[in-house]
Amino acid sequence: MIPKIHVQPFTALGMGFKKKTRANRVPKAKKVKSDDEEGEVPCDVAKCEIWADKRFGGRSIAIDNAIDVWGEDGLKRDVRRVRICRPCYREWKKAKKDEPDQY
Ligand SMILES: [Zn+2]
Repeated sequence: MIPKIHVQPFTALGMGFKKKTRANRVPKAKKVKSDDEEGEVPCDVAKCEIWADKRFGGRSIAIDNAIDVWGEDGLKRDVRRVRICRPCYREWKKAKKDEPDQY
């Protein structure tokens, strides 16, 4: 007798393996949300730890303007333009409004 049967299980096994590999490459739809919340530009106001990235509503203002509100010691960096987050920008705008001698 010729052992024909030996061929069939081997083939079936091969196919089964192929199917399994295919099934494994399924979902990569994981959305990493923490990536959105992490910024690159920190706010330059010393007491503040909010991101000042543009996509978070951050602004850059001249350091002179920032010093008017927070003082030299109130800023983390000594650069021409500092980056501030949205809440700080609003604070700054408000403080500026209160100054009558700005006109
Ligand atoms: Zn800030």
